[in-house]
Amino acid sequence: MRTGVYPGSFDPVTYGHLDVIQRAANLFDKLIVAISRHTGKTPLFSLEERRAMLEEVLAPYPNVTVDVYEGLTVNYVRRQGGQAIVRGLRAISDFEYEFTMALTNKKLAPDIETIFLMTEARYSFLSSSLIKEIALLKGCLADFVPPPVEAMLRAKFS
Ligand code: ADP
Repeated sequence: MRTGVYPGSFDPVTYGHLDVIQRAANLFDKLIVAISRHTGKTPLFSLEERRAMLEEVLAPYPNVTVDVYEGLTVNYVRRQGGQAIVRGLRAISDFEYEFTMALTNKKLAPDIETIFLMTEARYSFLSSSLIKEIALLKGCLADFVPPPVEAMLRAKFS
């Protein structure tokens, strides 16, 4: 049984995250999308809202579950019996942070691998912060987030 954990803020989940999730779900028997309680960022959506959005859009994927965790990611992965952390890479700007995190996690837990999935080109510019900015400015969100997320963003900024 191979279990992967895809940790992140998902504030909110975008089509870029979904692309990573779909591809990672094919690599593992079980994939846990894990919302980190503490990321140092002030979120727009509460943990419950982020979990509800993820659960709704991930309902069609039988081997994907959603969870919330706190503390070190590697400790959470161990508790879940997981083998790998999944992260997405968009641009060179992601690389330095992701490289540091991956090396730190390797030091803390040499038995857990970090696996990077390169973004699909059409999602390479997509980030949750960009989405929130477009929502604030009342732009069209249909190409960036699934319909339930679009509705939640509209409600937040109405
Ligand atoms: P975090 O606060 O942990 O960076 P995010 O929700 O912003 O949480 O991102 C979670 C992971 O998803 C990160 O590895 C990030 O690089 C990746 N990611 C975000 N947007 C995209 C995208 N458009 N394409 C591929 N990966 C992405």
